Amino acid sequence: MADTPEQSGDNPDSTPADFAGTTPRRKPKPEIEKIGNRKLKPATLMMGHGYDPVLSEGSLKPPIFLTSTFAFENAAAGKRHFEGITGKRPGGAEGLVYSRFNGPNQEICEDRLSVWEEAEEALVFSSGMSAIATVLLANVNQGDVVVHSGPLYAATETLINRVLGRFGVTFLDFPAGASREEVDTLLEKAKTMATGSGKVAIVYLESPANPTNALVDIEMVREARDAAFGADGPPIAMDNTFLGPLWQQPLKHGADISIYSLTKYVGGHSDLVAGGVMGSKAHLDPIRAMRNTIGTITDPNTAWMLLRSLETVELRMTRAGENAEKVCAFLRDHPKVEGLGYLGFLEEGSSQRDIYDRHCSGAGSTFSVFIKGGEEESFRFLDALKIAKLAVSLGGTETLASHPAAMTHLSVPDDRKAALGITDNLVRVSIGVEDADDLIADFMQALEQV
Ligand SMILES: *Cc1c(COP(=O)(O)O)cnc(C)c1O
Repeated sequence: MADTPEQSGDNPDSTPADFAGTTPRRKPKPEIEKIGNRKLKPATLMMGHGYDPVLSEGSLKPPIFLTSTFAFENAAAGKRHFEGITGKRPGGAEGLVYSRFNGPNQEICEDRLSVWEEAEEALVFSSGMSAIATVLLANVNQGDVVVHSGPLYAATETLINRVLGRFGVTFLDFPAGASREEVDTLLEKAKTMATGSGKVAIVYLESPANPTNALVDIEMVREARDAAFGADGPPIAMDNTFLGPLWQQPLKHGADISIYSLTKYVGGHSDLVAGGVMGSKAHLDPIRAMRNTIGTITDPNTAWMLLRSLETVELRMTRAGENAEKVCAFLRDHPKVEGLGYLGFLEEGSSQRDIYDRHCSGAGSTFSVFIKGGEEESFRFLDALKIAKLAVSLGGTETLASHPAAMTHLSVPDDRKAALGITDNLVRVSIGVEDADDLIADFMQALEQV
């Protein structure tokens, strides 16, 4: 339920009449989250959670609230709001104050987002990167050490290594598939590194890693963190863009903060840029305070678009996942395909498969295809595609294909590319919600051109 007074109706300062205009007063209805003992599923809650039409002239869908500021009931109410915002009074803001802090569309969006991981709270941001930057700025001080899994989204690596590096922050990384021993060793090393200059500020994960699809064992990292630091160790944050919110829910496996580029599967139509963060109130409070300070919140229009997207996120991801499985089954046996980096085909008995079985409920729809040959053959394949569009990004309704070595990872040094397995014959594919057999026909004819 939104904590906006006009939505929850629990603030005596604000009555439905404030928003009802000249229409007869109607009381907001209590929100339905259960029928008998049955707890309603996220797919159901996406159509109404956190919004009551009664409070907006009966408008079935939330209006877009285009305003930069919100009128106070009286001076004392204004003071109370600021006491909440500034932390003078615990409990945070009770109402809306100024649009750099929050707005009705963003709050409804946050309420609905949090449902997917059963998170206490969620925050929305202007992009995935502004979400990541705000999480890091809220947690990291001069002289601190950041521990992270590798590889990370390229801009995240730049932010940690180069930007935070300018402020005296150092980092240590372990490969995504690392064992408990490797992580233990690294955490001890990080502790030693931080001694005298600061602390180990955050353990930052990304899983599956891009473009290798290597999975991080969140449960294991949580155990290692707890063993190394005890109860008040650094928070574990995880970028869950590739499998969230449907196929992987890091908060349930020991992460403290789950981060999303909502630009991808959640937005899902390749028509917006946004980010999200979910977790406990205790972990999100400093992040919200940093967002209030630097203004990395998303705008009302994008928040409204995200609300529309959330209504179909399960439908779209389910269909895209089924399509990807069919396309990969076709590609696996094709003579011009050397291999596949697809989570649905992990080797039985391997440690990656073990992580997958414990953490993931689906293999996603973003994978790597290794074409027999090199750049020339891969380019011929890409240029021959008729349905799949040639573009970076992922998680949209349409199928996209790209060449990481020549595009997203062009600036990565050759030895690092080799270490990450970013070869010249690697084609990255994000499957959409088209007809699966049409997609297979497209891949079939394009492979014939190789
Ligand atoms: C796209 C992406 C980001 C960055 O998100 P933006 O919305 O483009 O800022 C971060 N992490 C991962 C894994 C991504 O795919």
